[in-house]
Amino acid sequence: MVAQQDEVTRSSITLFSDQAKVHRLRLTLKILITILVLLLFSDLFFNDFVISTLALAMSSSIIILFFFFLWASPDTCSVISGMVLWSVAVFITYACWLGNGIFDTSVLAFPCLLMLAIVLSGKLIFISLFVYLISALCFFAFAHSQGLLTGALLFQSLPLWGRVFSYIITLTFFSVGVFYIFSDLRKRFKKILEKNASLELTINQLQKRNRYDQLTQLPNEQVCKTDLESILQQQKSSGNILAFITLNISNQHSIKMNYSHSICDESLKQLATRLMSFNNDNTAIYRFQENEFVILKHSMDYRGISKFVEKIHQVCCHTFHVTDYDVVLQPDIGIALAPFDGSTMAELRHNSHLAMHTKTEGEKADFNFFDQAMAIQEQEKLQLTKALKSAISNNEFVLHFQPKVDLITEQIVGAEALIRWISPEYGFIPPTVFIPLAEQTGVITDITHWVIEHSVKACQQWHGLGFNKLCIAVNLSAEDFKRGNLATHTINTLHQANLPAHFLELELTESILMDDINHIQKQINELRAFGISFAIDDFGTGYSNLGYLTKFNVCTLKLDRSFVMNISQSSNELQIVKAIIQMSKSLNITNVAEGIEDKETASILAKLGCEVGQGYFWSKPLPQQDFIALLSDNND
Ligand code: C2E
Ligand code: MG
Ligand code: MG
Repeated sequence: MVAQQDEVTRSSITLFSDQAKVHRLRLTLKILITILVLLLFSDLFFNDFVISTLALAMSSSIIILFFFFLWASPDTCSVISGMVLWSVAVFITYACWLGNGIFDTSVLAFPCLLMLAIVLSGKLIFISLFVYLISALCFFAFAHSQGLLTGALLFQSLPLWGRVFSYIITLTFFSVGVFYIFSDLRKRFKKILEKNASLELTINQLQKRNRYDQLTQLPNEQVCKTDLESILQQQKSSGNILAFITLNISNQHSIKMNYSHSICDESLKQLATRLMSFNNDNTAIYRFQENEFVILKHSMDYRGISKFVEKIHQVCCHTFHVTDYDVVLQPDIGIALAPFDGSTMAELRHNSHLAMHTKTEGEKADFNFFDQAMAIQEQEKLQLTKALKSAISNNEFVLHFQPKVDLITEQIVGAEALIRWISPEYGFIPPTVFIPLAEQTGVITDITHWVIEHSVKACQQWHGLGFNKLCIAVNLSAEDFKRGNLATHTINTLHQANLPAHFLELELTESILMDDINHIQKQINELRAFGISFAIDDFGTGYSNLGYLTKFNVCTLKLDRSFVMNISQSSNELQIVKAIIQMSKSLNITNVAEGIEDKETASILAKLGCEVGQGYFWSKPLPQQDFIALLSDNND
């Protein structure tokens, strides 16, 4: 339908479309018929209504032209145009022959006919008509000189006013014809110009949209790339330093979850306005992706850039007032300097990202400059990732088990399975290092399958040894839910080991539950229906969203060790732990306190009502044989 409308609009504004040609042909035919009718009447009138040969020729021409008028359509247009032009040419030359040859009024119609030929048809007909008319004139001249033109005898007898009248008719209709045809052309030209103007406007708008971020109206990555290329070109001669500053808002996701998407967008808009106040000849601001802003800053020296970035950091950290909320953004800033740290946007961006993601020792830095050590570290990470991919098939992983202890009875009630990687090339690599790499590369799903299989087997072995009440807890990553085969694999593993499902607990962190919530919830429900229980790990470090506890029907809540470790010293942390324990009790959820390293902490937690503890106070994570030995000791 839209395409059809487009076609109509297009054809109505095109000069040489079929519709336009038919329109012009019909207009011409109308004018010709009118001229002929008037000439016929004038001929009859001035000849006392005696029907002359000319009158007969005119009448038959009128009929033919009228027939052409009815027949005109896009398919017949060019044929009819040719026929009309040739019929008129034959008619006027015949009229000349009957009249006074080259002295006849009809000669006036020659230029008119040629003009029509240009408007209605192509080059071929125009040239052939031109040649025909010239030949006719020459022939008439010859006929005059030889006395062959019999009609010329009538010259004297032709009524004077009849001649004037036929001149007037020819001139008037020639003018009217030219006027109509050109006004039609003018109208169509006007429409084409209007269409052109609106197309230009659309193109400009599209170009603007392609170059500017819609939310903040800041120029985008593409513009930055073009600007940077020319800046780097000029920089060669100026000797200035150019800082490529990447600014990421790391808590954007949690703002969306805790407030709303629109509040998050509004705070980013306000941030863009604040950043724009730094825009000047030496500074340009861009927005690349959702939470990534880039600032290009010229400076004479390194200190100038440091001072500038400090200001940027402060501006980002000031509270943003959005509707009724006070939103605080967490900026991560990394800086790469051209020409030292890269000569293209890809290099500078990559290195500024490396600087941004590098964690400095001790206190968290507000921003980091890139240095070569970061590139080396990244290279090492890449090599480690390569080694990680073959670690399962090379049997380089082992599982350790850390006991979970009942805080009242001091009996071991279960264990958490914690993976260890001993690489022949790199030695012992802690899970905090390789698990994130495995998550980034997708290797984690194979690792999780491996851990589940070995944990279930280990638990079944404990049961076989008489410790048949022990549960096993396995850590999961968000990536484990992406393939969608977690439930099938876990259930099959439990079947094969013949271990009842309620002895397996899967630990999730809050960040997992924030990902693709529907997809994850479906799989959790499937596993829950089979009898597998779920724990929220490291509770308190993430978004501490209590809604998850009931939404995912969680059985256990694991208090993060960063709170637990300090409860004997800090009353703040004691209060937080107390509140979490009370809240989970009211929801009928079991508490497990992680990271208990001393007796005092264990007894405070027991008094607060915490049921289970885990930590170095009882044991570090142990290999299977050592864990079994610990179980036997604990039983004595
Ligand atoms: P997590 O799941 O919170 O595991 C508890 C971590 O705290 C373990 O570190 C454990 O050794 C440590 N820990 C336990 N008690 C104490 C204590 O009293 N003091 C101190 N300082 N630390 C204690 P680990 O084994 O290095 O694991 C670190 C993290 O790596 C785990 O944290 C978990 O998030 C991840 N991880 C470990 N194994 C796996 C696994 O098989 N799959 C996945 N996806 N993640 C795993
Ligand atoms: Mg855990
Ligand atoms: Mg934990």
